[in-house]
Amino acid sequence: MNHDYRLARERMVKNQLMPRGITDKGVLEAMSKIHRHLFVEEALYGEAYNDHPLPIGQKQTISQPYIVAVMTQSLALTGKEKTLEIGTGSGYQTAILAELSTMVYTVERINPLLDKSRELLGQLGYTNIRFKAFDGTLGWEEFAPYDAIMVTAGAPKIPQPLLDQLADGGRMVVPIGNKYSQELIKVTRIKNRYREENLGGCRFVDLIGVHGWKE
Ligand code: SAH
Repeated sequence: MNHDYRLARERMVKNQLMPRGITDKGVLEAMSKIHRHLFVEEALYGEAYNDHPLPIGQKQTISQPYIVAVMTQSLALTGKEKTLEIGTGSGYQTAILAELSTMVYTVERINPLLDKSRELLGQLGYTNIRFKAFDGTLGWEEFAPYDAIMVTAGAPKIPQPLLDQLADGGRMVVPIGNKYSQELIKVTRIKNRYREENLGGCRFVDLIGVHGWKE
């Protein structure tokens, strides 16, 4: 069967995102538009729009659509942001961020995942994404500060370098907890004050690095 899964995308937006409080037009449009199935292996295309995460190899996962939407919406992107993403993985979340930011800097510690995502996102025509193979718990100092930061792996505490690299007025979203469950924490920086909000429970793979879990 050769189709572009348009109906599956429409259903995902209508049944999984809108009834659960996703109202940001940019997020809904980006998720209606981006071909999520291309970010998983072909055998899983038919499951790509289902309401759960999927394996992407290297013991990692592509996040559930709803979680992608909640995290993106929490950053309140206007299209003008310089955005940092930690944990490129499949590159799906990267594409959503690239639709809603001026520039996206994305960091991944597993080389083969980064290479694959770089290639796919290039094929899809994105020119506003920069990639780095690195420990993202250290951030990406060179281009800091960032208006928005998203961490897509779970950490024991918020990595200090990411707090330092957040711009005044910037927003960060990061899953914090133990290895089995976390809370989605949104941090807003005002000068040198950081306000934290809990957006609810979630479950992510480990953030591994100097300011994360040990390997
Ligand atoms: N947003 C991705 C999520 C992938 S899972 C998606 O939806 O496809 C989380 C990713 O974070 C994994 O690819 C994992 O390798 C990566 N990761 C874990 N610790 C990291 C670190 N310290 N720096 C960069 N990437 C990290």
